[in-house]
Amino acid sequence: MTGTRTFFVGGNHKMNGSKSMLESLCTGLNEQVEKKDNVKVFIAPSYPYLDFVNNKLDLNKIQTSAQNCYSEAKGAFTGEISANMVVDLGIPYVIIGHSERRNVFNESNQLITKKTKYAISLGLTVILCLGEHLADRQNNKTEKVLDSQLEDFKSFSADEWKKIVIAYEPVWAIGTGVVASPQQAQDTHVYIRKWIAENVSKDVANQTSIMYGGSVGASNCSDLSKQADIDGFLVGGASLITNDFVTIIKSA
Ligand code: PGA
Repeated sequence: MTGTRTFFVGGNHKMNGSKSMLESLCTGLNEQVEKKDNVKVFIAPSYPYLDFVNNKLDLNKIQTSAQNCYSEAKGAFTGEISANMVVDLGIPYVIIGHSERRNVFNESNQLITKKTKYAISLGLTVILCLGEHLADRQNNKTEKVLDSQLEDFKSFSADEWKKIVIAYEPVWAIGTGVVASPQQAQDTHVYIRKWIAENVSKDVANQTSIMYGGSVGASNCSDLSKQADIDGFLVGGASLITNDFVTIIKSA
């Protein structure tokens, strides 16, 4: 990380957790996480627990995020939640475009753009996930995939970009135990930052935090966090274990 950008550490619980597990996780995090300038911490529980977690956390130190939301305020969209509801709960973040949304639930770049635009318009900060599959990397197509995932965001204003945090999450590293090497992650983050500089502006490129996600754990976080362009972590499995997540937060 550099001193100028905010370092974000987020826990993506995916479809995991229970009231009792979250109660003890929140208590542990409230006790062990220290507030630091320029570091923001959040956890993203499953939808049914959003309000529960938001009420348990010490919000001065740790905030809550939704894992997804739709691009309409309300209506006949069974199974969806709206950005308006997230705002109504007083929750500041939403993850959009996670690879599991893209790959398991077939969300398109177009839908992800629409959802991001809508969430930002209501004041949410969007954790926008990008990343290539293993075959893309093996065939030297990583940059092409990132270009296509970023394409629509060329038209977003500098003010809209202020509400975007990128999470680079190579699909081959998510939940596999195969973490990107610090150099691989750094190089890809530099590429994303260069894309923003060329397609949005240099200022936006310098200000935008780019988190890394994919098998981040207590033992690999400190080498990754030393990289100049890694501005945080989006953590899956290890964010369910209080001590591991605290270690990752402390690596900031
Ligand atoms: P993982 O998941 O840390 O379990 O690899 C990361 C993510 O999906 O955000």
